[in-house]
Amino acid sequence: MGRVFNFSPGPSVLPEAVLKKAASELVEYGASGQSVMEMSHRSKEYEEIIGACEASLRELMSIPQNYKVLFMQGGASLQFACVPMNLLNKTKKADYVVSGQFSAKAFEEAQKYGEISCVGSSKEVNFSRVPELDKKSFDPTADYFHICQNNTIYGTRFTSLPDTGGVPLVADMSSCILSEPCDVGRYGLIYAGAQKNVAPAGLTLVIVREDLIGNARPDIPAVMDYKIMADNGSMYNTPPCYAIYMMGLVLKWIKTEFGGLEGMKAHNEAKAAILYDFLDSSSLFKPTAEKASRSLMNVTFVTGDGEIDKRFCSEAAKNGFVNLKGHRSVGGMRASIYNAMPVEGIKQLVRFMKEFEKNA
Ligand code: PMP
Repeated sequence: MGRVFNFSPGPSVLPEAVLKKAASELVEYGASGQSVMEMSHRSKEYEEIIGACEASLRELMSIPQNYKVLFMQGGASLQFACVPMNLLNKTKKADYVVSGQFSAKAFEEAQKYGEISCVGSSKEVNFSRVPELDKKSFDPTADYFHICQNNTIYGTRFTSLPDTGGVPLVADMSSCILSEPCDVGRYGLIYAGAQKNVAPAGLTLVIVREDLIGNARPDIPAVMDYKIMADNGSMYNTPPCYAIYMMGLVLKWIKTEFGGLEGMKAHNEAKAAILYDFLDSSSLFKPTAEKASRSLMNVTFVTGDGEIDKRFCSEAAKNGFVNLKGHRSVGGMRASIYNAMPVEGIKQLVRFMKEFEKNA
């Protein structure tokens, strides 16, 4: 069997060109006589790999000088604890928007460390949109304000950022990072598990404004302390070396294939439009996210009949369209169409869906 079209929500499809490049360097990287997997993270070769990776990220995202880039482990889920343990340091209060399962988990985790308020939730509509927010309910004395910018399970996203005034905005961008340009200066902190748009699993990115770090609670584990990680160039301990190397290749691919994040956005918008346009016209498949909140990365849809959904996923898989089953809390289907999903994958999926609809 050749390569399938993989719609997995994460870990997810990686660009084929990147996999091939990695394969060509798997056994021997450059003239080093060893694989990147075998290298000391303190070696000159590896220092160049991690340095180039950070430089590419800074260039692609236009990260201002007063922001640190950290390569961490533990997934986005560990950030649910790192964020409050590092940032709840003045009033020990924070505002959270609950727009899906991951932001609910982040909200719950943060409660272990301070006085945490929910300033908006769309739970009552099964997270089919991001909540409407009333600025008057925001706490101007909060240490930070947390959102999950793209809700992987429900296929929704914030299309504009809440105005939090002087309160630093913290965003979980696990499922939308690098999918479009991002004004980093609008955020106090961005974090993202890498396994969707960036690299294989095992790496978590943190981009944090310098002045926010250095006041973590004293009982914080060292590997969770942003200041310790920043002061040690993310090498307080062994970083996820190979995932960082892969990230470097993915960033190069974005630059050469799309010219940067504007091009990436155009590519992603074009793909999402093909799929949503079909869903809006289909008599069998219905999109589940409200139009104004639709994600560019995760497209959720149902037929309304669990048996047909099941048959669809199974027939799709037989035809080379895999991992389309929706999350159990939404049911139906979800097509995760991250950066590395080619337009052709969407076109062929829609062709298959039309055929399925005709025969249903
Ligand atoms: N946030 C979002 C938006 C996610 O999609 C996920 C997982 N897919 C997580 C957090 C949890 O990430 P991890 O598995 O890396 O802990």
